[in-house]
Amino acid sequence: MTILVLAETDQNGLTSGTRSTLACAREIGGEIDVLICGSDCEAVAAEAADVPGIRRVYVADAPHLATVIAENVAPVVEGLVGGYSHVLAAASSQGKGILPRVAARLGVQPISEISAVIDPQTFIRPIYAGNAMATVRSSEPTQVITVRTTSFEPVMETGGSATVEAINAGPDSGLVRFIAAKLTGGEGPDLTTAKVVVSGGRGVGSAENFQLVERVAARLGAAVGASRAAVDAGYIPNDHQVGQSGKIVAPDVYIAVGISGAIQHWAGMKDAKVIAAINNDPEAPIFQMADYGLVADLMEALGEIDEALSQN
Ligand code: FAD
Repeated sequence: MTILVLAETDQNGLTSGTRSTLACAREIGGEIDVLICGSDCEAVAAEAADVPGIRRVYVADAPHLATVIAENVAPVVEGLVGGYSHVLAAASSQGKGILPRVAARLGVQPISEISAVIDPQTFIRPIYAGNAMATVRSSEPTQVITVRTTSFEPVMETGGSATVEAINAGPDSGLVRFIAAKLTGGEGPDLTTAKVVVSGGRGVGSAENFQLVERVAARLGAAVGASRAAVDAGYIPNDHQVGQSGKIVAPDVYIAVGISGAIQHWAGMKDAKVIAAINNDPEAPIFQMADYGLVADLMEALGEIDEALSQN
């Protein structure tokens, strides 16, 4: 088996999602190569080469790859996949944009968002918003797979000695023009990798009240999440949404405040190790999911928590 992992990078280097994808590749087994597409990739290529177990790091380095545009990256991946049994990427917005294109160009059926590896052809993936797990087996010559990164512990070791090889970055497709990237989400930790997440729902009541959720989250060093109802009501931008149509999180602690516990929300946070809920309705479904529940008015409860934390 030979596996090509499409790396994703940010200002800090390889993303945690890429490191989780490498862990998934290890579980499949075989030789692992990494492809980095970007501009000025020297440092991140060296970082990837330092991950134990990687044989080769391919680098497609060109100004038009400075912003990852699926239409430009997919042909680079396609040009490299001959001979690989598997192509893997994180099931992030990048991976979900690029790999289906690669699969279409190769004429194979992709497998999306696997959460476990049974054997090199057999994988588990959630269906029906995580309410059922499907075991899928594929006999495609190249398995094109996106990986649910919260299901695999990121590979953090160093000390590898992969070779680094420059490859042709191909032309700019000209199909898409990059205009601007606007980062929202404030200063807190990244929602998808945070150890603690404090999420607010419709019960929070207003954008103004949501500031208390944010303040408590900041005191705990937590990321701020939200239900779709809170996002739709305009309390908080939609990149904070947790759930089936939002982000999938698996923190050590998830604190749900004023969230009823709809299955679409549960789909995004059910892998949290400990779930705590504050809700004024003792019958709210969230209490069926929570390890700890507090039946209380959330503004009062959060106010007291905020006050207690401010003493530390
Ligand atoms: P509600 O269900 O209205 O719950 C509010 C809760 O706050 C209630 O339990 C209430 O008791 C409590 N409350 C009210 N006031 C107070 C107070 N003062 N103190 C304490 N508690 C209080 N939802 C998501 O979250 N994420 C998704 O990704 C998502 N994707 C979806 C995809 C599809 C296709 C569909 C159909 C729906 C999706 N939804 C998603 C929506 C989902 O079905 C629910 O509507 C939504 O999760 C409800 O959000 P909520 O719990 O904040 O609101």
